Amino acid sequence: MNIHEHQAKAVLAEYGVPVPRGYPAFSVDEAVAAAEKLGGPVWVVKAQIHAGGRGKGGGVKVCKSIDEVRAEATRMLGMTLVTHQTGPKGKLVQRLYIEEGASIAKELYLSLLVDRETSRVAVVASTEGGMDIEEVAHSTPEKIHTFSIDPATGPWPHHALALSKALNLTGEAAKQARTLLPALYNAFVDKDMALLEVNPLIITGDGALKLLDAKVSFDDNALYRHKDVQALRDESEEDAKEIEASKHELSYIALDGEIGCMVNGAGLAMATMDIIKLYGAEPANFLDVGGGASKEKVTAAFKIITADPNVKGILVNIFGGIMRCDIIAEGVVAAVKEVGLKVPLVVRLEGTNVELGKKIINESGLDVIAANDLADGAEKIVRAVKG
Ligand code: GDP
Ligand code: MN
Repeated sequence: MNIHEHQAKAVLAEYGVPVPRGYPAFSVDEAVAAAEKLGGPVWVVKAQIHAGGRGKGGGVKVCKSIDEVRAEATRMLGMTLVTHQTGPKGKLVQRLYIEEGASIAKELYLSLLVDRETSRVAVVASTEGGMDIEEVAHSTPEKIHTFSIDPATGPWPHHALALSKALNLTGEAAKQARTLLPALYNAFVDKDMALLEVNPLIITGDGALKLLDAKVSFDDNALYRHKDVQALRDESEEDAKEIEASKHELSYIALDGEIGCMVNGAGLAMATMDIIKLYGAEPANFLDVGGGASKEKVTAAFKIITADPNVKGILVNIFGGIMRCDIIAEGVVAAVKEVGLKVPLVVRLEGTNVELGKKIINESGLDVIAANDLADGAEKIVRAVKG
């Protein structure tokens, strides 16, 4: 789960991490009131969306007067902000963050993330802050430094030294790194974060460290133990279909293609997406209905797929192991009876209770195209959609 920049900064401030003062604002009046409370003389008006690259897209503006804050707030609220992370459709700006301006001597990059390979918390640091870190990694990989912290011991003083070295910190900033790194680490572990990215971390005109931007994602599997984090969820930033799917505990990811997929097992779901591409079309979603799905769950999944206006055809691909083919068949038939079927449907069933599953579909009177195997199913649905 992702949260907004202002929420991330509030969470981190609780751990003593230095962030600029600021207030969220949902209207122009609130933005102006926030600016008055902060006092100036410099403010930054920042669009709050769950995507980075806002600066380049016009979503971060440094203002020198209250009038300027008002003008920028008026311009940003309600705008569709397009950045390299939002995709071409962009994201609607519904809230702002009004911050005191900072004087920047140097922009740095710092992130913490779970490193599955070492089972540790990896720290990634670079002197090349404020820009696209993927680009830095690509063109000047030697400028990216990584080390990891063992969760059994937590951070040691040598980790802060490693960070100072990686970021070329001296004086006050190097001293501050000794408390900043443990503070970030504690927040990361306490709150079960999956990613904490600070870009940029800055050295101010006075030589101190400050977080100018913060992006935090939490481990969804640990959300149940953090009521405070759950309360930060902004469903308007999430795909409505994915929210609905999570209510039914379905693993569903919305994509941009035209073929809706209903599959059991993550591996088979990925293979199905691959083979759809191989036959010249694009999947509209990733969907793993899981091993022990009920008829209700399958019905919910089918409804989510058909609710997507981009879906021009549906491929059901089930290898019944724990999941029985007759359950899938019943779910598909029930869902089609409820919501109707306006696009071609190809069903490939194999495994446990396959004969019963096929019988249920055949006797349902539905207009279903039967497929024998994975390739046959993909070919048939692509042909049905593309002609
Ligand atoms: P992002 O583009 O979505 O990553 O948004 P950021 O919060 O990182 O802001 C983008 C850029 O705006 C930063 O890299 C800074 O260069 C600039 N910026 C943000 N806040 C301030 C500020 O308080 N003062 C100044 N001078 N620049 C700022
Ligand atoms: Mn940033």
